[in-house]
Amino acid sequence: MKQSQLFTKTQRNAPKDESSVNAQLLIRAGFADKLMAGVYTLLPLGLRVMKKIENIIREEMNAIGGQELFMPSLQPKENWLKTGRWDAMDDLYKVKDKSDREFALGPTHEEIIVPLAKKFVNSYKDLPFAAYQFQNKFRMELRAKSGILRGREFMMKDSYSFHLNEEDLDNYYEKAKTAYFNIFDRAGIKDQTYLTFASGGTFSKYSHEYQTATPAGEDIIYICGKCSLAINKEIKPEVETCPECQGKDFREEKAIEVGNIFKLGTKYSAPFDLSVKDEKGEKKTLVMGCYGIGLGRLMGTVAEVYHDNRGLIWPESVAPFAVHILSLNKNAEAEKLYNELMGKGIEVLYDDREASAGEKFADADLIGIPCQLIVSDKNMKENEVEIKNRKTGEKSFVKFSAAEIIKNLNEKK
Ligand code: ATP
Ligand code: MG
Repeated sequence: MKQSQLFTKTQRNAPKDESSVNAQLLIRAGFADKLMAGVYTLLPLGLRVMKKIENIIREEMNAIGGQELFMPSLQPKENWLKTGRWDAMDDLYKVKDKSDREFALGPTHEEIIVPLAKKFVNSYKDLPFAAYQFQNKFRMELRAKSGILRGREFMMKDSYSFHLNEEDLDNYYEKAKTAYFNIFDRAGIKDQTYLTFASGGTFSKYSHEYQTATPAGEDIIYICGKCSLAINKEIKPEVETCPECQGKDFREEKAIEVGNIFKLGTKYSAPFDLSVKDEKGEKKTLVMGCYGIGLGRLMGTVAEVYHDNRGLIWPESVAPFAVHILSLNKNAEAEKLYNELMGKGIEVLYDDREASAGEKFADADLIGIPCQLIVSDKNMKENEVEIKNRKTGEKSFVKFSAAEIIKNLNEKK
């Protein structure tokens, strides 16, 4: 894409009322725009990152048998009365139409997927299965001060699994655990992300959160020095030893909950009487698990973990583009390179704007595409381009040829 065509621009300053690092950088770099507290527009650059994250998650969910669907945000009150959450859920947005009929704006989708499953599950032979979606959730968050980490409207991947018994749920739960690690690995934050024991609610002793250690975190976790599993502070008062390895040394860190997995048991299947007859003809209420990841929260977490005082530093896997060409008054040559790289399937942002070299360098560092290619008079004299690694600042010079550049990029991987 040509940067001159991008309708958004970088900004010198973030909005004064925005205190979080992720939102300050994402707004300044032109990835997001703040509509109001906790509500953001994803701009073209930001949407590209979001779609990369979405695809990583989709691949990992499909790999463990997830089936993608898409459920509505506007939901009937009756379903929420049935589970008791119409009154019990503090952060539920409720809307009324002209005839005084009330609806919920979905903060999560158990109330929709359970009656949906009931329409199709007739026999134990229909089990197990898991379904997931990418969907905007609405929650009346009172402390929406963490930028895109805590939205009032935000994109979530939510999966739900359905089983005949607990053993089968346990089995799927372990697969989900691994899939989640793969996701955080591919998004570049595996080293900072800890599987964390959290309170499990009614059904199981613990649920699991995936907590990424960073000073921007709202949660406090205790990381076990022996096995590197963590415990959320909210449950920690009762836990003296690590539930995994019985270790007793913990390190305290601030962390962001990027995802969580939960054994629901029959909490939502029972109110809707979602049940089947098992092989012996006995009635069994289905056992469920649920598995969430906030995509905006993940994107914001990557921004919190990977930035410096000049701007964002995207891991390749989620970067909006792989390569940023900066043309310093060498547009014919730069354009040639742009077309050749695009022809070879490389995602390129090409800074063809009429702007000073200083401005282009500063913007490129702010936007944070992993690889910058600098086409200048000086470099062209040697028939070379300069390749600069945004993360390390390392510079190298390669022959002015798309093939050479691609070779160089692949060698660095
Ligand atoms: P938190 O304790 O941070 O409020 P939660 O326990 O309410 O999170 P869930 O309901 O389990 O979160 O949602 C699943 C995932 O959705 C979370 O792990 C997180 O990644 C994301 N998420 C939850 N609330 C928000 C929000 N307000 N904005 C962005 N992402 C969110
Ligand atoms: Mg919450």
